[in-house]
Amino acid sequence: MSVWDQIIGQPEAVHTFTRAVAAATNPRDPGPAMTHAWLVTGPPGSGRSTLAAAFAAALQCPAGGCGACTVCRTTQGGGHPDVEIIRADTLSYGADDARHLISRSSVIPTSGRWQVVIIEDSDRFTSEAVNVLLKVLEEPPQHLVWVLCAPSQEDVLPTIRSRTRSVQLRTPTTSEVSQALQDRYEIDPAMAAFAARASQGHIGRARALATDEGARIRRQEVLRSPATLRDLAACFVAAGDLLSAATEDAQSISTELDASETADIRQAYGEGAQGLPSSKTNRLANSALKAAEKTQKSRRTRLIRDQVDRALVDLIAYYRDVLILQTGAAIPLINDEMRAQIQREASSADLPDTILRWEAIESARAMVAANGALPLVLEALMVELKDPRINQRT
Ligand SMILES: [Zn+2]
Repeated sequence: MSVWDQIIGQPEAVHTFTRAVAAATNPRDPGPAMTHAWLVTGPPGSGRSTLAAAFAAALQCPAGGCGACTVCRTTQGGGHPDVEIIRADTLSYGADDARHLISRSSVIPTSGRWQVVIIEDSDRFTSEAVNVLLKVLEEPPQHLVWVLCAPSQEDVLPTIRSRTRSVQLRTPTTSEVSQALQDRYEIDPAMAAFAARASQGHIGRARALATDEGARIRRQEVLRSPATLRDLAACFVAAGDLLSAATEDAQSISTELDASETADIRQAYGEGAQGLPSSKTNRLANSALKAAEKTQKSRRTRLIRDQVDRALVDLIAYYRDVLILQTGAAIPLINDEMRAQIQREASSADLPDTILRWEAIESARAMVAANGALPLVLEALMVELKDPRINQRT
């Protein structure tokens, strides 16, 4: 077992990071495999943050990332005192945030060998914040390692790109995701294949669909909504339903993540073990729990927005299937289990309208990403899905 076991379909990235960890354990001459600033890019769900946390754990772990020790578990649970995980709950970081971050991370590691800062959303930095960060990225203190994550290289400023070493993740294939679901969670092959296909390579989503019937039902309801948009009232209902489905998905994810992180930290610091924990262990446990609580709170806010985006990606897949039937392309449908409804939509709609609907969903996704008010964005989207030429009328 090791921290790399949970990374799915990224052999090149794992190779790069294991070499870096091996080099980093040689303090006199780390060599070129290790560097102090990394940029991990990959599509949502490809496992950017999981990989960054695995790298941090491997750097801190005395055994190079065994995946079982206290250090590995607290790091991956978000509670290691020398690993800071930054998740944005606002639209963008400002210069003050960056300064604050730098002053916190410049202290000497308290227990680990490294101070690791993982920034999950480096694409959300403002140019002022980047200016503050650049100096540190250029000449980082010996003990400091930065791991910046972003969807793609184009999402970060060139000045950040040029000062970091790039590790690019790819979308795992359907069969890689399906196999991982079977091996790791003992999902039966048919369900694993469905979840892998429906999630389109998004690992967390695939697991939720394979293990949580509620998630499957909510997804089904979102995909049924295009067929319900008979009048404007129905559009508002569909928008509200989509937002509730996304909120429930977000709650179920955060409840599970929070509980497992808290349990990891408690176990790591010996709570519940025989005898009372010493006052020092207690203090460390409390500060780790406090740090985890803070990241959990900002994560909850973001998860709803992420899950709305997931639902919109599902709707895009639906219209992509409609388009496939309309064009007669010999390509498998993502939502094959809904073929009857997709066939009805394909026969009753014009092909240009299907493209307009697809574009409307992409615009809605952009507005969700730009912190648009979710109910308004979704209501406007449903009205456009009902009547895709509504914006072309004068
Ligand atoms: Zn370990």
